[in-house]
Parts: sequence; structure tokens; C-alpha cells
Amino acid sequence: MSRRSEILEEMGLAPLWRSRKMPAPPEDREALVLKMSWQELKRAVPACTACGLHATRTQTVLGVGDERADWLLVGEAPGAEEDRLGEPFVGQAGRLLDNMLAALALRRGENVYIANVLKCRPPGNRNPESAEVAACTPFLRRQIALIQPKLIVAMGRFAAQTLLETDATIASLRGRVHRYAGVPLVVTYHPAYLLRNLPDKAKAWSDLVFAQRAMRDLQAGRAVPI
Ligand code: SF4
Repeated sequence: MSRRSEILEEMGLAPLWRSRKMPAPPEDREALVLKMSWQELKRAVPACTACGLHATRTQTVLGVGDERADWLLVGEAPGAEEDRLGEPFVGQAGRLLDNMLAALALRRGENVYIANVLKCRPPGNRNPESAEVAACTPFLRRQIALIQPKLIVAMGRFAAQTLLETDATIASLRGRVHRYAGVPLVVTYHPAYLLRNLPDKAKAWSDLVFAQRAMRDLQAGRAVPI
């Protein structure tokens, strides 16, 4: 089997290619992912076996929401409930996130898209490994290119450090507008962390107010400070 055929099998796209419903893809997996349509992504992610997490997942969690949203919220990886239900940010942390969105007059699914860096749950909610992140981030990159959000909110240390390719702390990254693939990005705490550290809720709130101000500038076509 050629490398291209292996990649297509790994991504669940072999039947589409054989039936000539998609053009011959490049042989490089990342290049293939970065050309996908939403339909192809939704087929490829559930079939993906590119890292070891496929063996322990119940199902993949691609993301949820408005596929042309101005707001893109990115967390770390699915937890137990997300793995069971196939949707990101459900359970207690999800309810907190929904409340935070409501305080900004936003709702999940309306001009908001929510995703994680990893699409499969690490067993026991352990930290993602670098090989897993490397295998999975092309999917997120493609989601960002398709959504074309005005602003990304990276929630939690892992999402922030992965997207910004840094090991800086959340504390040092908050309160500034960064860039990911040219898209403005702000950093805040993960809702699951806030459930365990209630005093930091006030900081998360100020991050969201900061993000909202940046979004107003972006929607009005004004430059945001970097
Ligand atoms: Fe594929 Fe990402 Fe799941 Fe790994 S975590 S199997 S790369 S979808």
C-alpha cells in the first residue's frame, strides 16, 4: 500500500477517493488535512488513528458551534463527559463556560465555536503528550482556517502554550493580544481550573471583558494593540 493510501485509510477518506469524489490528495498528511472541507474533516476526525489516543476514546470531539463564528474558544482535550457525549465543554465546566458567555451576551452556537486542541480524550484526563499534540493540531489549524474567527480565546495553560508555542505562564500571557496563524488571540483560565480556584474567577472575568473590547475593535475594523 502506498503512503498516500495509508494516510487515506487512516483518515477514513479512502472510499471517497476511490469513488473519485475527491481529487488526488498530496502524500503528506498535514498538507491533506489543511486542504479539507468541513465535510471531509467531519469524516476524517472520527476515523483518525494518527496517535495512540484513538485506542482508548469512546468517540472523537471535533467541536461545536457556528462554523463562521467571530469567536473561537479553544480548550485542552475532551474529558470523560465530552468523550461520552461527543461535545466539548459539557458538565460543570461547560455550564460555567455557558454562564461566562451569557455574561458577554453570547451563546454557544451563535457566533461562537468551541473546540479543543486534542480531539480524543487522554486516558484518566492526563496531560496530552507532545506526539499527540503534533498529530492532532493540523485538525485545529484547518478548523481555524475554515471558521476564520476574528478572535481566538485560548482557555487554560495547555491551549495557550500549545497555540503560542511557548512555556510562559498563563499569568504572563493574560491581558495582551497575541496572534495565532495571523488571528488575534487572548488567554484566560480554563473553566475546569476556575471550578477548583474560585478566587481566579474575577481574573477570568476581566480577561473576558478584555476579549470583548478587542472583539469590538476588530468588528469595527480598528487595529488591536499587540
Ligand atoms: Fe487522531 Fe487527534 Fe484523536 Fe490522535 S487525538 S487519534 S490525532 S483525532
